[in-house]
Amino acid sequence: MQHTSSLPLQTTLAVDAVTVVRVETFLVDLPTIRPHKLSMAVMNGQTLMLVRVHCSDGTVGVGEGTTIGGLAYGGESPEGMKLAIDTYFAPLMLGANANRVSALMTLLGTAIRENRFAKCAVETALFDALGHRVGLPVSELLGGRLHDRLPVAWTLASGDTAKDIDEAQQMLAIRRHQIFKLKIGRKPVREDVAHVAEIKKALGDKASVRVDVNMAWSELEAGYGLPALADAGCELAEQPVAYPEAMARLRGRYPIAIMADESLMGPVTAFELAKSSSADVFAIKTEQSGGLQAAQHVAAIADAAQIALYGGTMLEGAVGSIASAHVFSTFRELRWGTELFGPLLLTEEILTQPLVYRDFHLELPSGPGLGIALDEDRVKHFRRDRPRVSVSSGLNPIVSTAASPV
Ligand SMILES: [Mg+2]
Repeated sequence: MQHTSSLPLQTTLAVDAVTVVRVETFLVDLPTIRPHKLSMAVMNGQTLMLVRVHCSDGTVGVGEGTTIGGLAYGGESPEGMKLAIDTYFAPLMLGANANRVSALMTLLGTAIRENRFAKCAVETALFDALGHRVGLPVSELLGGRLHDRLPVAWTLASGDTAKDIDEAQQMLAIRRHQIFKLKIGRKPVREDVAHVAEIKKALGDKASVRVDVNMAWSELEAGYGLPALADAGCELAEQPVAYPEAMARLRGRYPIAIMADESLMGPVTAFELAKSSSADVFAIKTEQSGGLQAAQHVAAIADAAQIALYGGTMLEGAVGSIASAHVFSTFRELRWGTELFGPLLLTEEILTQPLVYRDFHLELPSGPGLGIALDEDRVKHFRRDRPRVSVSSGLNPIVSTAASPV
């Protein structure tokens, strides 16, 4: 009897006892395996903003904020996130109850406008620390996972049709990917459609072929491009045009699914897109949504509106990708799979145990928190603020011997 009466008191004490004692941020620059060509940027490397939240019980959580092409995709950059967290987030977080993630995120949400990616990074770190504290994976803290592995698409973005076909065939052969997303929109519509048609013809029924236009088309161009893509066997077009109104006019006109990506920036825009029937599918991204729980709210709106789900990426590294995987694993249905391939686009591993990509899927780890561990030596090596050696040489007063920024 004594046991049951003392339990609530102990639980309360444990919840109140742990506070945030330190917030640490740093940038990590990693090269990509090849140039990644999007309509708005060509990426030759990726910068990860990593945040570590240290708690009074000794637990430490890690989170990641990453963007596509610096500031090419949106208003936040890794450098900007670091500045925002150091200057504005950290003072609000220090001393706060580290167990009450929602309460702390609500406080940050009230005090800080926008900054969705930075908020996502911080929320990830808080959930990771909480998971380590209570011995549960982040997915279980988010309500419990429904999937232990997630299908993962690969993006073909070399800009060269023959190279893309080769790359896709290799991925099929090693059973890593059977869904391919083609980045188009940099070239005239007819050229892009011919590129897609050639790839689909080469791969046939072995693979699903989809395109991402990254808003590059006008409504008129989409009026030509979408039916031509449907004829070529392309199943889905991601953000063919910028504006939801234009997407709503295009959706349902051709036998090709329309997916919202850039125009989906969290629960409020999800509700607007659902109301205006602008999309068949939502590409849910945890960073774009403003955090892990916000991404779940977007999924709930999609479910209510009978909009299908796809787990999107901001080309995060391992930390951000597995955080997204924990969130997506709680979605009832992921009809269009995910594109959590970010770590595979990087040449360098920063985890002690790499993420497991097998049989066309990413497997979710079962350990506490995010279920991953950073390889501290590797991280130190790629930190932008690592010590650099400078030497004098002839005409150039100072030549840095550190690798050039990627
Ligand atoms: Mg996209």
